[in-house]
Amino acid sequence: MTVASPKIEASSPHVMNTYGRLPIALSHGQGCRVWDVNGKSYLDALGGIAVNTLGHNHAKLVPALQDQISKIIHSCNYYHVPNQEALAKKLVELSGMTNVFFCSTGLEANEAALKLARKFGHDKGIERPEIVVYEKAFHGRSIATLSATGNPKIQAGFGPLVEGFIRVPINDIDSLKQATDGNPNVVAVFFEAIQGEGGVNPMQPDYLRALRALCDERDWLMMVDEVQCGMGRTGKWFAHQWAGIVPDVMPLAKGLGSGVPVGAVVAGPKAANIFQPGNHGTTFGGNPLAMRAGVETIRIMEEDGLLENAARVGAHLHRGLMKALAAELASGAVREIRGQGLMIGVDLAKPCGALVQQCAENGLLISVTADTVVRLVPPLIMNEAEADEVVNILCPLVQKLLQAP
Ligand SMILES: *Cc1c(COP(=O)(O)O)cnc(C)c1O
Repeated sequence: MTVASPKIEASSPHVMNTYGRLPIALSHGQGCRVWDVNGKSYLDALGGIAVNTLGHNHAKLVPALQDQISKIIHSCNYYHVPNQEALAKKLVELSGMTNVFFCSTGLEANEAALKLARKFGHDKGIERPEIVVYEKAFHGRSIATLSATGNPKIQAGFGPLVEGFIRVPINDIDSLKQATDGNPNVVAVFFEAIQGEGGVNPMQPDYLRALRALCDERDWLMMVDEVQCGMGRTGKWFAHQWAGIVPDVMPLAKGLGSGVPVGAVVAGPKAANIFQPGNHGTTFGGNPLAMRAGVETIRIMEEDGLLENAARVGAHLHRGLMKALAAELASGAVREIRGQGLMIGVDLAKPCGALVQQCAENGLLISVTADTVVRLVPPLIMNEAEADEVVNILCPLVQKLLQAP
């Protein structure tokens, strides 16, 4: 029950100190289970922050990646990479959009989206394009994407921020209209269909439909950051699909490569031809290993019915949490349990960062975001017994924390 490290010290004095790390170093995994270097096992309800779509050591993914590594890892974009076309074709088919640009991370995908929006404006003669973004949004930590992010803590110390953003609250179409009415410089709205880092805050389907109509009416690009909520996590390929809309630009990353860094920007007809040769690029983007990881991830997800699994096990987990925390929900000590599929946030009425370590000590990996929200984003292969185990470890610790003065 203890995470003390008698054999191997989990410390890194020469690595730059950018993360508040737990005193744990993971060594290997199998399915939804991981082991640390001292042999202690954990149930993984974090999935490397919504990255390990297929869990660990997946029997179909590993041989495919081994095969790819033995053939070619990287070739560069001076040449064609056949699996770029294969993965792009698949993403186009799943999204109902038309073309894809590949990169390696979420912030890079978002950076490309922001460049698309600005050039969309410039091509229309708008010299100083502005983009609507949201309170509590998270889009990454480059200078542009942290400027789009709606969290002062992430921005502090990095000014001057990039200009050209208009910030509004989520799920409030009147605020959006008020903030933009009469402004000819607006070119795009940029948002997460379910805010991840901001505390698992879903955009309402009605709001998304109203937003789609407004974007059409005013010729704005609708840009949905699906980096965290996309790739099957909610039980549909992309979270915005629950609202029956199709965006113009969709950045992806996290779950797309099951742990191999893969990012993508999917564009619809309104945005697909904005970039011309020379406008954008990145060395690692679309490399053969990354593309193989993306192609195989989607193939295995389809073969193994993981969308359906995410929806079913996610609903089971949601119900289990509601039941175990019924009294706390009734008293208001738990404010809300929200999310969809295997993206769930348990919002407590008090800060709960301490739960991360307490859960780890008890063999469960989770995260806490926005100070008060327990975030569960496990691999999409999680089964109902494992979901029950998450509830059984997490909920008593939540109750204990809530009862403490
Ligand atoms: C994680 C995340 C990003 C940033 O992705 P990186 O790969 O860390 O750059 C951007 N947007 C959302 C919604 C995210 O969850």
